[in-house]
Amino acid sequence: MSKNSSSGRTQWMNPVAVGRAGYEPTTIEHWANILSHGAFVAPAMWLAWLLVVAAGVADGWHSMRTVACGIYGLALVLLFTVSTVFHVASFCMLFTWLLRQVLHRADRAMIYVFIAASYTPWLLLQPLPPGMVHLRWGVWVLAVVGIVYQQLFHEMYKMVDTTIYVTIGVVPALAVLQMADAGMWELGLGGAVYLVGVVFFKLDGRLPCAHAVWHVLVGVASYVHYVAVATHLLATPAAVPHLAAPHCARDAVCEQ
Ligand SMILES: [Zn+2]
Repeated sequence: MSKNSSSGRTQWMNPVAVGRAGYEPTTIEHWANILSHGAFVAPAMWLAWLLVVAAGVADGWHSMRTVACGIYGLALVLLFTVSTVFHVASFCMLFTWLLRQVLHRADRAMIYVFIAASYTPWLLLQPLPPGMVHLRWGVWVLAVVGIVYQQLFHEMYKMVDTTIYVTIGVVPALAVLQMADAGMWELGLGGAVYLVGVVFFKLDGRLPCAHAVWHVLVGVASYVHYVAVATHLLATPAAVPHLAAPHCARDAVCEQ
């Protein structure tokens, strides 16, 4: 697999970006980026719909559980949708400099929003250790701080960007994992997959289709977390019909 083929048709990778310049994917990488998140848009919509409807039917449409599932489900859909729109526009050269800035910043901002939204069901629907209840709103403050930083210093300090992503992603987990309740194993597994994904997030220009690998790992991790929310917080098989039966046979909570 050559870095740059002479024909240009099988170019798997471009040189690493320098300074504030963004990495320029090859045609193959553009397609990989689009498909690796585009494929998750429809499933995310379907799963988010199942989650919210199951919560609404079980607890009422204005219940805390429905609101928490709604926030999480909306962020799940937006994460893959915004990313796919950005990568399609990037490939099709649809944008001016300004539009590229807006879409790229929105793509990055969604990472912060999605981190906060992923924690929201766990923080709102589970008892927290003493002194950590402020994380319920604190996780959104962290996301806003991250987004403001990212808007002010977009692409200026890329390692700082990544460090903030990981910090905001990991710190609330220290509290959530102390809840010692059902679903912690899945939360830990999903978090580990995200962290592996971050490695690939930083390998543009060093590994072909590294960004697409990051995309796929985000999809896998978010699905693991979805299953944990649906089966342990929502406690109904309706949100995970494709795997609810064997799981709920194991957990009595699914009987309600
Ligand atoms: Zn992307």
